[in-house]
Amino acid sequence: MRYLILSDIHSNLEALEAVLAAAARQYDAVLSLGDVVGYGADPNAVVEKVRALKPVASIRGNHDKVAAGLDSSEDFNSLARAAALWTQRTLSPSNLEYVRGLAAGPAIVDADIEICHGSPLDEDFYIVADVDAAHAIGAAKRRLCFFGHTHVAMCGRMDGRRRIEIQTPDGQPELEISLADGVKYLINPGSVGQPRDGDARAAYAIVDLTRGVVRLQRVAYPIEIAQKKILEAGLPPPLAYRLGMGR
Ligand code: ZN
Repeated sequence: MRYLILSDIHSNLEALEAVLAAAARQYDAVLSLGDVVGYGADPNAVVEKVRALKPVASIRGNHDKVAAGLDSSEDFNSLARAAALWTQRTLSPSNLEYVRGLAAGPAIVDADIEICHGSPLDEDFYIVADVDAAHAIGAAKRRLCFFGHTHVAMCGRMDGRRRIEIQTPDGQPELEISLADGVKYLINPGSVGQPRDGDARAAYAIVDLTRGVVRLQRVAYPIEIAQKKILEAGLPPPLAYRLGMGR
């Protein structure tokens, strides 16, 4: 079984299309880790594309919750709030209903994989420090736990000695992780539509359970088109600029 893992697409159609083209024929099913919308200028086109992919598991992110009216925007900074409220006004009734219906994580996918937006313990928690990663990996019910929310690609692994090791792609187009027996993994594929690890290219992951490999991938996309649409939509300009910096 091979999964394409998408996280934090954030209404960035150009980034999503680049990922789908790059990953074509390399997966059997899709997993979506949330934050399909928010920040970007194409919430309807992105939601429709994700719906058409028929993810076998699809959970909500904090931006999905606010855009769907399930949560208040009081924890958001002014830029995120403006974008979430614009998204709420812009989504078609059918797409708004889809976003509202996304399940809370974590979700068990199969015997090997679970997914969450923030952490297996709290869908809104940011796993930043090693101690957070260790806590999350300990709480994971499967040997492979995929998460998003921070928009930073990384792989944490923990073996029987309970020591966590973190690996990051460091600007490389691909990081291949060979899965070992007796090891648990906590993996963030990075963000499709708003990467924040200094690499502006769209990020995604492919898991091949048959070969025992996870690949963290990057693909370039026409950032200037996504930026132009954000500015033309009247969304806050910093949301356009940050795409070019990968921050
Ligand atoms: Zn996000």
